[in-house]
Amino acid sequence: MRHLHAHGGGGCTCFIIPPHMLEKIAENGTADQREKARQALSIDRTFRAQRVAQPLQAPDRIQGAGALHKNRRTYTANHGTGLPGTLVRSEGQGASGDVAVDEAYDGLGATFDLYAQVYGRNSIDDNGMDLIATVHYGNKYNNAFWNGAQMVFGDGDGTIFNRFTIAIDVEGHELTHGVTGATAALEYHDQPGALNESVSDCFGSLVKQRSLGQTAAQADWLIGAGLLAAGIHGVALRSMKAPGTAYDDPLLGKDPQPDHMSKYVNTASDNGGVHINSGIPNKAFYLTAVAIGGNSWDGAGKIWYKTLLDSRLTKTAQFLDFANLTVDNANSLFGAAVRDKVIKAWHDVGIDVAPVLSWQYNKAVLSTFTSPHQTNAWAYIQDNGWRKVQTLTPDGVHNMFTLLTESQSSGAKVHVYVDAALIYQAYSA
Ligand SMILES: [Zn+2]
Repeated sequence: MRHLHAHGGGGCTCFIIPPHMLEKIAENGTADQREKARQALSIDRTFRAQRVAQPLQAPDRIQGAGALHKNRRTYTANHGTGLPGTLVRSEGQGASGDVAVDEAYDGLGATFDLYAQVYGRNSIDDNGMDLIATVHYGNKYNNAFWNGAQMVFGDGDGTIFNRFTIAIDVEGHELTHGVTGATAALEYHDQPGALNESVSDCFGSLVKQRSLGQTAAQADWLIGAGLLAAGIHGVALRSMKAPGTAYDDPLLGKDPQPDHMSKYVNTASDNGGVHINSGIPNKAFYLTAVAIGGNSWDGAGKIWYKTLLDSRLTKTAQFLDFANLTVDNANSLFGAAVRDKVIKAWHDVGIDVAPVLSWQYNKAVLSTFTSPHQTNAWAYIQDNGWRKVQTLTPDGVHNMFTLLTESQSSGAKVHVYVDAALIYQAYSA
């Protein structure tokens, strides 16, 4: 028996409004806004402290189990904070007439359908987990979150934020934290945390794009469009297409997201800027999707989903590690032409990804390959997991690399990573 339910689907309590936005409101708002922002920050900190006190055990990666099980339940907290609250709408029931209840129900459905119909995933945990949402949480509460077991939505105060069910990608984002918790379990700090946030933005955007029937070229690539109330200068919480441009407002400040590694924000707040530096992998995803063209969930989405489930993706993966795997997975899913689009997308956000050379190691021969450029390479061998066995250096004349390691068994898989996007040839003679 899996422990996903006991551990609440794994991962984190993740809020859609990051602390850097709430802190701006706590500085710049009216007395009432400042008070509400401080309350929201305090609720956030309470959940975060609980998370630290009770670290979630990373669940095993799950391969599909059982028939698809779509079972939504939408509750109201009636402006209190008890969870899940009073049940309003169950799976298969018609619209309730409460717009927040019905939007939440539809968003849960669109998210379930993306994962089930495109990726063959049976709910968040791939084991038919019930999808639960509570709306009308708190008094004009300015946030929405996934607590590891369910979604929770505030109504917003109507002057800074509208109701949080208004943006279907917010639901896709939050529920994807559950998927990440059940798969890669990327740690929620620094680069792995920004990857965790980015993966949620990517699939949140795909939920929206698919529900609207939009191609990569047609999509707005905004996260939380419609959430900012009238009078706030901005279009959304984040822009995957142009990170750093979603809002610029006297109350909220300016969108702090970087769009390139050269602008990476080193900060102690927001768990090391997980909602800030996610702009970099977000843009790589956007660039990949538009370069491939068509529906993003079929191209870039499949590459990213395969990467999320890839056993080589560690909980502490850095941007480059994740990027390398997307390249390898693009190659195995779609071939060299798409692989090269992914390499270029990462290059354009300042991450030079290695093409991954793969072959079966044959103990009888040394494996060599050449590169047209002087560069460095690293060899990884798969035996018990992946381990780095040596740094390869070119011979300086022919730029020929030789893999000298003989410690692994014949037939072991070898991956070689090269530190720039290069044309190369592999020989395993
Ligand atoms: Zn998030």
